[in-house]
Amino acid sequence: METETHEEGCKHRLVLRRWIGKEEERTYLEVPFLIDGEVERIDISYRYERGGEEAAVVDIGLRSPDRIVGWSGGARDTFFLGKEKATPGYLCGSIVNGEWSVLLGAYKIPSSGLEVVVEVELSLRRGRWMKGDLHMHSVHSDGSYTIEQAKQSCRERGLEFMALTDHNTISQNQAALAPDEQLLIIPGVELTSYYGHANVFGAPETLRDFRIVSADQAAEVLADTRERGGFVSLNHPFCPACPWELGFGEQYDAIEVWNGPWRALNEQAVAWWQGQLEHGRRIVALGGSDTHRIDRFVKHGRPTASVWTESDSVSGLLEGIRLGRVVLSFDPDETCMNMTSGKYGIGDFIPSDELEAVSGVPLTIDIYGARGDRVALWSDRGIEAVWDIGIGITESGEQREWERFAGEDGEWTIQREIAALLAIEAEEQSACGGQEVAASAIAGNAVPVPVPLPVDAENGHVRISFQGSADRLFYRLEARRYVDGVNVSVMTCLTNPIYLGGANN
Ligand SMILES: [Zn+2]
Repeated sequence: METETHEEGCKHRLVLRRWIGKEEERTYLEVPFLIDGEVERIDISYRYERGGEEAAVVDIGLRSPDRIVGWSGGARDTFFLGKEKATPGYLCGSIVNGEWSVLLGAYKIPSSGLEVVVEVELSLRRGRWMKGDLHMHSVHSDGSYTIEQAKQSCRERGLEFMALTDHNTISQNQAALAPDEQLLIIPGVELTSYYGHANVFGAPETLRDFRIVSADQAAEVLADTRERGGFVSLNHPFCPACPWELGFGEQYDAIEVWNGPWRALNEQAVAWWQGQLEHGRRIVALGGSDTHRIDRFVKHGRPTASVWTESDSVSGLLEGIRLGRVVLSFDPDETCMNMTSGKYGIGDFIPSDELEAVSGVPLTIDIYGARGDRVALWSDRGIEAVWDIGIGITESGEQREWERFAGEDGEWTIQREIAALLAIEAEEQSACGGQEVAASAIAGNAVPVPVPLPVDAENGHVRISFQGSADRLFYRLEARRYVDGVNVSVMTCLTNPIYLGGANN
C-alpha cells in the first residue's frame, strides 16, 4: 500500500493506493490510516477502473478504532462523517484518535487485478461563522411544514443550522433526531402563554410548564429552566398581538430583537435593548424568522443568525449564542458585518487592564455584501460614526443597480419587498390601534450624530478602522437600507456588542 499526504490549512489529505489481485476476490480488505489530532470531519472518496472486459466491483465502508461506523457497499463514491453530521449509512460521533481503516470489499476483481485509489480528507476542528434560523414552527404545533420540509427549505436557503421551536411541545425535536448532511438542529421550544412567548434553546425539556399567568410565575419557571441548562430568549417582546407582559427582570439570557421581516416591533425591540445596554446590562440579541408556512414575506433565514462556533456541532453553536457571538442579517445572502479589537470579537468583554494598556479601543470593522447600506457604530452614548457604503455607481443609478440583484427568476428585490411589507404593516398597525416606535433612550452624555462618511465597497467587502474610546460600555454595529418612496430604513444587519470592561460611568 502506498500513501501520499498533503497539508492545506486546516485540512490534511491522504491518498492511499491498494492493489487488489484476483486471488483476493470475495475477501474484505483494510486500508488503515492514523488520526492523531483534533479532527472533526472525515471525507472519503475512492475510484478504480470499473469498465473493462470483466466487471469490477469494489465495495467500501469505514472502521473506527472501536467499530465499523458505516458501509455503503457499491452505492456511493464519496461519503463523510462528522461529530453530528454524516452521509446516510454512516454514524456520526466524536472522531477519536487512533488507527482507522477504510474497508474495501473485493466483490468482483478482474483476472489482471486492479488498483483502488482512496482519498481521505481530515478536517481539523476550527472556529467559523455558521448561518441559521433560530425560530420556526412545524406540524408539531401550528405550522404547516413537516420536519423534512422545514429542513429542505432551510437547506435551499443556504442555512447550516435551524432551531425547531414549536409552541409548548418538544416532540418536533424527537422527530428531527436523525443526523442531516448539511444542517445542525438546535433543540428548542417556544414557551407560548397568553402573556408572552419565549424560546428555550439547547435543553427544551427543562421547561416544565408553559401555563404561566403572572410575572412571578414566569420568573420562577424561567429560573428553573435556566438553572437546568436551558437558554431563554424573550420572543417578539413588543409584538402588538402577543407582547411579553411577564416582566423584564433577570430570568432570561437573550431577547429576540428581530422577528421575521424588519418591522416596527423589531425597531422597538432594538431601541429597548439599546436602553438596557446603556445601563450596563448584557443581553444577547437574537433573531429568527418565526416561519409557520410558505409566505411571501416570512421565510426561513429572514432574518439569518450568524453564530461564531468553535466546532461544527450544536454544543459549539449554543456556546457561541450564550457568549453573544451573534450577528443578524435580513437574509442569508444579505449584508453581514464583523467587528474585532485585537484578539477580541463580537460578544467578548475586553478587560479593563487591557483597555488601559492602549489609549483607546482600536476597532476593525468588516462589512460584506452591503449594497448601498448606511452603517452606524453605536455605543452607550448613541451613534459614534456613520458610513455610507457605496456600490460603485452614481447616486441616481442606485435603485436600478439594486434591482439587478433580484436574480432572473422574477424574485422580489429586497427594496420592493420591504416597501410592500411596510405598506401591509401600516394597515395592520392602524387596524390594531398602532404602536409607537420608541426612540432609543440615549444617556445624557450623548455624542452628536456624525455626518456619514462615504466608503466604496470593492468586491462587496469594506474594512474600516475606528479608534474607540476606553470609557464606553460597548460598541455595536447596525446597517440599514433606505427604501425609496417609503421614507423609512430597514435593518439589513445588526451585531451584538463588543463590551468594554470597567467603564461604569
Ligand atoms: Zn411567538
